[in-house]
Amino acid sequence: MTGTTTGSPVPFEAAVSRYDPVIGLETHVELSTAAKMFCGCRVGFGAAPNSGVCPVCLGLPGSLPVINKAAIEYTIRIGLALNCTIASWCRFARKNYFYPDMPKNFQISQYDEPLCTDGWLDVEIAGQTVRVGIERVHLEEDTGKSLHVGGATGRIHGADYSLVDYNRAGIPLVEVVTKPIGGTGALAPVVARGYVTELRDLLRALGVSDVRMEQGSLRCDVNTSLAPAGSAEWGTRTETKNVNSLRSVERAVRSEIERQAGILDAGGRVILETRHFHEDSGTTTPGRSKEEAQDYRYFPEPDLVPVAPSAEWVDQIRAALPELPAARRAELKRVSSQLRTEWNVSAADMESMEHIGALGLVKQTVDLVTGSGDTARAAAFARKWWLGELARKANESGIELAELAISPRDVARVIELEVSGELNDKLARRVLDGVMAGQGPPDEVIAARGLAVVTDSGVLAAAVDEAIAANPEIAAKIRGGKTAAAGTLVGAVMQATGGQADAATVRDLILQRCTAQS
Ligand SMILES: [Zn+2]
Repeated sequence: MTGTTTGSPVPFEAAVSRYDPVIGLETHVELSTAAKMFCGCRVGFGAAPNSGVCPVCLGLPGSLPVINKAAIEYTIRIGLALNCTIASWCRFARKNYFYPDMPKNFQISQYDEPLCTDGWLDVEIAGQTVRVGIERVHLEEDTGKSLHVGGATGRIHGADYSLVDYNRAGIPLVEVVTKPIGGTGALAPVVARGYVTELRDLLRALGVSDVRMEQGSLRCDVNTSLAPAGSAEWGTRTETKNVNSLRSVERAVRSEIERQAGILDAGGRVILETRHFHEDSGTTTPGRSKEEAQDYRYFPEPDLVPVAPSAEWVDQIRAALPELPAARRAELKRVSSQLRTEWNVSAADMESMEHIGALGLVKQTVDLVTGSGDTARAAAFARKWWLGELARKANESGIELAELAISPRDVARVIELEVSGELNDKLARRVLDGVMAGQGPPDEVIAARGLAVVTDSGVLAAAVDEAIAANPEIAAKIRGGKTAAAGTLVGAVMQATGGQADAATVRDLILQRCTAQS
């Protein structure tokens, strides 16, 4: 061994002035198919450990895998959206390695015959378009999940014991691998983040995954290498594993550039290895030295037939692709002034909506609201939610609006119920909370938690009469013409109905009752 493999990190600006970074991203995406990749087990996050398993995904002797057609279709959808060539014939391969979370001791993956190859994705960075080449998109099965108990870090070192949950084993997993991305200089960390953001939005639009980074359905490995500025040769890369937020993708690249520059400045060499990113310190530490492909002893999976998607099927899938984020953004730009008029908002309002990434969400929501008969009114409600309560929630969780566990369809439904008087503002808030807590779409949350506004006139009338009887002196004031005093009684009725009445209706009813009795 020659030269050092350590060195003090170099400040970022200095590092990128002397070295050219080259990055590469490998993104794993759990598909949201109903069943697993090679068996009929249901897929779901948060189920009791080892409740969603069968002989196939547990790798029991004698069990045989069968390919899930929906997973193939989803993968082709992704490949087409990334401008890839779709293989007319390809095979799965066995990737052999031992790890306790992999019950078969091999993973069914794709090796030299990926389903989709050679595409690209355009990413907007500071008004410029960076075209990121896509090397391949292939399909494999996910592994189980180890849980290391005891110890400070949650890693196996220092743990008292380990548990393993095979629910995730066999979930269809797509891996999207970029070509090396060079020439971005100081923008490399931002390009990495921009690429993952664009890919995530694309996958969400395709409806193939719920792309929840915090739940692990979208996971990123980030390759980084440095070469002396102007050099034609690439440096040795490191692979930072499982970087689990957009912000971490940017920080991981930045930290690796600073660390590797320190080693190269000291005349040392960077080791080809995997590294772990630490959210708290924003730095990486070494994992294992990187395996070479031959360590996995790949060979064609003998238990599966080849995959041969027909040209007609691929054309059908292409024809059914939804509008993709880039096209949607261009369309929003085109109709922006028309929307301003329809929604009756100022240019500054439009700009602030765009700035926090709410414009597209508000537009989708307004488009989905039916029966309001008034676009400006629907837009006012949509802006109230996306720019108010939901923006606050996203901010609190340190995520973007689009990452919230709520869709424009959910918000549109809540608005319909507000417009029809079935929800008031307070109840609507609780319904949105329920949706974000994973309790289902609005109507399910309302049914489960009994959140509909009390519209039963008998129930309301009884509550109003009770409030009047309990507050005779206030009722007398109202009868005497001081209608402003009704506010106290409205409060009493709202309390009696647990906030589930429409305040305006209650007020009308109180005034009506008091007049009738006088
Ligand atoms: Zn199974």
